Amino acid sequence: MKKLLLLFCLLSPVARAQSSADSVTIRKIYNEILSNSPSYEWLRYLTQQIGPRLSGSEGAQKAVDWTKQLMEKQGFDRVFLQEVMVPHWVRGAKEMAYIQNGKQKTTVPIAALGGSVATPSKGIEAQVVEVKNFQELRELGAEKVKGKIVFFNRPMDPTKLNTFEAYAGAVDQRGNGASEASRLGAVGAIIRSMTTAMDDNPHTGSMRYATGVPLIPAAAISTNGAERLSKALKENPNLTFYFKQSCESLPDAKSYNVVGEIKGSEKPDEIIVVGGHLDSWDLGQGAHDDGAGCVQSIEVLRALKALGIKPKRTIRAVMFMNEENGLRGGVGYADYAKKNNEKHIAAVESDNGGFTPRGFGIVGTAEQRAKAMAWKPLLAPYGLHEIGAGSGGADIGPLAQLGTVLFGFKPDSQRYFDFHHTGIDRFEGVNKRELELGAASMAALVYLLDRYGL
Ligand SMILES: [Zn+2]
Repeated sequence: MKKLLLLFCLLSPVARAQSSADSVTIRKIYNEILSNSPSYEWLRYLTQQIGPRLSGSEGAQKAVDWTKQLMEKQGFDRVFLQEVMVPHWVRGAKEMAYIQNGKQKTTVPIAALGGSVATPSKGIEAQVVEVKNFQELRELGAEKVKGKIVFFNRPMDPTKLNTFEAYAGAVDQRGNGASEASRLGAVGAIIRSMTTAMDDNPHTGSMRYATGVPLIPAAAISTNGAERLSKALKENPNLTFYFKQSCESLPDAKSYNVVGEIKGSEKPDEIIVVGGHLDSWDLGQGAHDDGAGCVQSIEVLRALKALGIKPKRTIRAVMFMNEENGLRGGVGYADYAKKNNEKHIAAVESDNGGFTPRGFGIVGTAEQRAKAMAWKPLLAPYGLHEIGAGSGGADIGPLAQLGTVLFGFKPDSQRYFDFHHTGIDRFEGVNKRELELGAASMAALVYLLDRYGL
């Protein structure tokens, strides 16, 4: 508070009056959202009535129709769809896996990784080699890997305070593990789930095959399952692992980004995007990932409208399609913007969960960052202390090539990977006030971006 006062005294009288008017408006935005937001009920519908929304699925199409109608009901100036073709991968029957250690058979929870091929219909049973990274795998060489299942068991680093850093440090196993294993003749890949939690929930997520290597099936194993397998291997390196999955990739399907906007009163050609992704993995309900970001983005526009705030610039809520397994929506959105010569000055994405707000990561020039960081005194009273260079978001990423400044909403990250891509990413996991505080944080930032530009 002292710091804020000091800064306030250093400002010119005009700037001081402006800053005080802004702080009053931001207070009103928070009051409106914390008192009247329907966003939690929207999330309830999206997660419990519509449910999982993997690209190409019936759920994804229902979510497109529903969010379009929802935004139309809010009376936004324009609501429209942008067509994109999306990958259409289906999981098929529930996977099965066990460790066969002599006569002892131990079932373990697995989930096929998105994009993986199926096992033969009888499943695969083979000996296992456990590695922590690709270097270790290559050192083993084809001789020790051929005909086996490679078990990637490098945990997320628990000492990283930002769990997204820990995720980034481990996720190469999920993305490229199968191809690296296949290069050496492996018949399957089992990957430790991307989480610091110890439990029985396998975490799915996308993987890709390198060109020119045989496509081998890949699945995530729960962290408890990984520990069990690792321990059993130490006792008996000759044990076998069995798994069966029947997933497949169908032809690309037609889908949509859903866009709603409030037209700017002074500079309608300058656009500010606020968004999240509408698709979600099939195991849960896509509540934190990323139903939260979607309803928060719509709430930003609703709250501005409810308060009678007439933005100078055009504010757009964008529900991107296919973030999880292709990013076609994000890429398609930037293509549309380019083709139509649209000027996007800033884009804000919420795709890190509906948890207590901490700040925003910024991708832009040093000057642009400095301008946004100067708003810190207005946002810090609401717990938004971490405002500075960081990452934006996968869906808005392609807008960077058009010179758009990107903002990634940063909630507290400690519990996100308990839920991420699992069967427990459900409505009950999201807290109403935390969700609303996130929406209010985004609305406050959008208000400042609209008022002052970058
Ligand atoms: Zn996400």
